[in-house]
Amino acid sequence: MFCPKCGQENPDSAVHCSRCGAPMPMIDQGFGQATGMPSTQRVAVGNNLVWAILATLFCCLPTGIVAIVYAAQVDSKAAVGDVAGARDAARNAATWCWVSFGLGLLFVLLYVGLVIMGATFGR
Ligand SMILES: [Zn+2]
Repeated sequence: MFCPKCGQENPDSAVHCSRCGAPMPMIDQGFGQATGMPSTQRVAVGNNLVWAILATLFCCLPTGIVAIVYAAQVDSKAAVGDVAGARDAARNAATWCWVSFGLGLLFVLLYVGLVIMGATFGR
């Protein structure tokens, strides 16, 4: 691998150029410290997408979709290195998942309550 600054040839594993000391561009080897975007951080941001989809399917469609939108933003923000933004989006996704679950539960309770009331007081 050649130094982008001075052209000195360096071993592929070199982090800094042996002649001028410039940081070497590194092939992503799973610990991409040289890229300025640590891959461990990218992995650390869970996107809650599975929960968002479950919430949409089984609980509350409108709020579930909001959760999916935020969950989708997590990956795109993490991909461009916006870790703080990705965490924000993940937190929003989780919040809307809970809102969906809560509303879903409320609907179920309401439905069960109406059925019971209908059975008790109906006819
Ligand atoms: Zn150099």
